[in-house]
Amino acid sequence: MDSIYTLNNCRITCNKPGSPVYTKISFPVHCGLFTELETEEFIFHFNLNGEIIRARLKSRDWVHPHEWLKRTDGNDWVYYSTGGYTGVFEATGEYYLPNLQYPTNNLLGGRPFARKEVKYLVNHWHEMLVKTYRNLDNCPEEIEMFFQQTISNSPEILAEKASHLFSIIGNRISVLPPDARHVDYNLIPLTISRGCLYKCRFCKVKNNTPFTEQSEKRIDTQLMRLKKFYGLNIKNYNALFLGEHDGLQTSPVLLRRSIQKAYEIFHFADSYINETCIFLFGSVTSLQNCSESDFQKLDILPGKKYINIGLESCDQETLERIGKPLKARQVKEAFHLIQDINEHFSSLEITANFIFDENLPENHYISMLELIRDSQKHVKPKGSIYLSPLKFDSPARKHLFAFNRLKTLSRLPTYLYIIQRL
Ligand code: SF4
Repeated sequence: MDSIYTLNNCRITCNKPGSPVYTKISFPVHCGLFTELETEEFIFHFNLNGEIIRARLKSRDWVHPHEWLKRTDGNDWVYYSTGGYTGVFEATGEYYLPNLQYPTNNLLGGRPFARKEVKYLVNHWHEMLVKTYRNLDNCPEEIEMFFQQTISNSPEILAEKASHLFSIIGNRISVLPPDARHVDYNLIPLTISRGCLYKCRFCKVKNNTPFTEQSEKRIDTQLMRLKKFYGLNIKNYNALFLGEHDGLQTSPVLLRRSIQKAYEIFHFADSYINETCIFLFGSVTSLQNCSESDFQKLDILPGKKYINIGLESCDQETLERIGKPLKARQVKEAFHLIQDINEHFSSLEITANFIFDENLPENHYISMLELIRDSQKHVKPKGSIYLSPLKFDSPARKHLFAFNRLKTLSRLPTYLYIIQRL
C-alpha cells in the first residue's frame, strides 16, 4: 500500500507501485516499488533500501520531461534520452536511449553529461535532498525515517556499496548481454564461471582470466551474500545474469543448479516483477557442446532464458582480421543450430551478435545476409541479431543508414548492441 504525504512544497509517495511488467512504450513507465520525492524543483526515486535510483529536474532547461537519470547498482549514472524519437526504437528495440558516462560503442548517443543541468543533478542530488529535509518541520515518523535512510546513502556510501557488490561476485561486470534491455538491465549478477575461451583480438571487454568454472561452494556463498546485499529491494528483481563471459560453457549441471538455487534463494516467485528472466553469454564452442537434452532441461527451468552468442562474422577474412579463432563454417553451423533451438524451445531464446564497421571486407555483409535473410524462409519474431559497432566512443549517426539497410533486409529482429556494464 502506498502512502502519500504533502509537506510544505514537497510530496512524498512511499511504496509507490510502479509497473510489475517491463513494457516498451513511448512514455516513461517505471517498474517496481519505490518512493517518490517530488518538489517544485525535482523528482527523485528511491528503492526499498532508500538508495536513489532515478532523478530529473523540473526546470525548463531539462530537455524533456520524459528524460531522466538512472543510477545503476554499479553506481553509474545513465541518462535516458528520447533521442528525439528519431529511429531510437528501430535501432535499439527500446524507446529510450541509454547514454553512458564511460567509453562504449553507441552510434546514436548525444552528450547529455556535458549539459550543465545534468552535471548539476549528478553532482548535487544529495545536497538537494538534505536541503529539502532541513526545510521541513514536524515530519511524520515514516517520513523522518525515509530522510534518515536516504540521506545516509550518500554518494560515497553508494560508491562503497557498488564496490562491495563487485567484491561479492569477484569483479565488475564489464559487459551485460544485449538482451538485458528487456529488464532495463535490472538484474542480479551471479558469477558461475570466469573468463572466456577465445580471447579475441578485437574484444575490448575481455579479461586475462582463462575460462574457469566456480565451485558450488563459491556460488552458494555468492548467493547468500547477494541476498543480504540486495536486502529489502530484492523484491524489485526477477532477473539473473549468470556471468561472466561464457556462462554456457559452465557444466550443464552447475548451470541448472545455479538457476534453480538463485530462483529459490532470491524468492523470484514472490517478486514484485512478474516474469523471471535469466541472461547469459555463450560461445560457438559452448553452444555446440550442449546436447539436445541439456537444452530440454534448461527449457523446463523457471523463467525465460536468453543466451547471447558472439558470432561476429561468417566471413573467414573478417574472423582472421579481428582475431576470432573460429572457422566461418563453424559460425554458420552455430547460426543454424540457434535457429533450431529457437524454434523448438519455448522458454529459450538464443540471440547472436555480428560486428558492424565501415572498414570490414564486403563479404562480411554478404555472408551475414545469406544467413539472416536468404537462409530464412519467413520473417521471425524470435532470435534477435545484434550488430555491434567495433569503434568505441565515436557516435556517428551517418552509419545508421548502413544499419537500417541491413535491418530492412534481415528476416530476424535486428538491433544495435550498445555495450553496457554493471
Ligand atoms: S568476444 Fe567474447 S569470446 Fe571473444 S574475447 Fe570477447 S568475451 Fe571473449
